[in-house]
Amino acid sequence: MPSKTAIASIPLATVRYCGLMAEFSFHIHKTDGRARTGEIRMARGTIRTPAFMPVGTAATVKAMKPDDVRAAGADIILGNTYHLMLRPGAERMARLGGLHRFMNWPHPILTDSGGYQVMSLGALVKMREEGVSFQSHVDGAKHFVSPERSIEIQRLLGSDIVMAFDECTPFPATRERAESSMRLSMRWAKRSRDEFLKSDQGALFGIQQGSMFPDLRQESADKLQEIGFEGYAIGGLAVGEGQQAMFEVLDYAPGMLPAEKPRYLMGVGKPSDIIGAVMRGIDMFDCVLPTRSGRTAQAFTLGGTLNLRNARHAEDSGPLDAGCPCPVCASYSRAYLHHLFKAGEMLGAMLLTEHNIWHYQDLMRGLRDAISKGKVEAFARDRLSRYSAAAE
Ligand SMILES: [Zn+2]
Repeated sequence: MPSKTAIASIPLATVRYCGLMAEFSFHIHKTDGRARTGEIRMARGTIRTPAFMPVGTAATVKAMKPDDVRAAGADIILGNTYHLMLRPGAERMARLGGLHRFMNWPHPILTDSGGYQVMSLGALVKMREEGVSFQSHVDGAKHFVSPERSIEIQRLLGSDIVMAFDECTPFPATRERAESSMRLSMRWAKRSRDEFLKSDQGALFGIQQGSMFPDLRQESADKLQEIGFEGYAIGGLAVGEGQQAMFEVLDYAPGMLPAEKPRYLMGVGKPSDIIGAVMRGIDMFDCVLPTRSGRTAQAFTLGGTLNLRNARHAEDSGPLDAGCPCPVCASYSRAYLHHLFKAGEMLGAMLLTEHNIWHYQDLMRGLRDAISKGKVEAFARDRLSRYSAAAE
């Protein structure tokens, strides 16, 4: 681990890029129906797929130390460009040696483009062809992000997988709105690629848009492949359309993208969403659900979701989830977790976040293993029937 002296010795006047040189390959080991398992090899490590990326919004996976995130089985985490550009700032992060060193996570990091979070600010945002201007939620300062600036910020952070700058088309969208939004995103995708190619750091993923319209999804997929990316994301889902509508899009959208490249479904999701998406050919996921739920007493277990604040756990000396291999379930009772949340103790959020991340990583391990054995359908059926136990 770098010492404080080592960090202080970096000349603060020097802004440098902290990423590693491009090394990116995707190997599919086995397919089972449309599901695939394999690995992405990068300079900072190998990502086993299907992969779930815990979200590290502000240079921390909230309430968890990086070593514990790694121990749970995460090969890669996600960082949020929007939050990091405002605080501590991309140039400052670069002067401090980049995001990996800053947060003590030496493994791969994917950064989003910041577009989604900038545009979710609503009234504070002005969008035009050139880019997006907005006011910081931290201090009210005015900022401008273009595709070029987004790529530059992600490079300054030292990202291993950089995302193209796009507009996440809101749901529901009329056909006209979905079309103009998708076409703007495709022009921005080209500008993102041009900027990205000025250095040889990491990998760049393009993002398919097109809302719920198959022909727009196809046009978007074609344009992205014309430009050419190391991987492809499916955007504009998990925005309130519901699982059934999302699966309808996933029945056709992954097949429009090149089979030999990784496919990333952004912002998804519940364990049942992930299972359904893996069955439809998705390789990568990210979602705040396991960490956010960990802070609000919601546990993901093999028997469905539990609310640890519920009084029925007050005298339950059993583990949170008897089938879970995590250190929390090995050492702490439901009664203790219940007590921590009732007493407002921060350890409750820490333990439950750790368990939830383990639950997600264990699900991904199970999916990878089942695909390897050609048994993903039986695995999915079994998991889904257990999850459907009544939620609290
Ligand atoms: Zn557990």
